[in-house]
Amino acid sequence: MATYDYKCRKCGHTFEVITSLSEHEREPRPACPKCQSKETEQLVEPVNVITSRK
Ligand SMILES: [Zn+2]
Repeated sequence: MATYDYKCRKCGHTFEVITSLSEHEREPRPACPKCQSKETEQLVEPVNVITSRK
């Protein structure tokens, strides 16, 4: 699982999405939770990749 930061281009709202890498590949641009716009952009690379420690 990883945390992705997004910014909505429509309303400027920034939000975090916690998703798996495969989900992220499938849906790289989630809808803005505020205005439901799909015009979102990813701000940075995953900042908090949670890996399973052995
Ligand atoms: Zn928005």
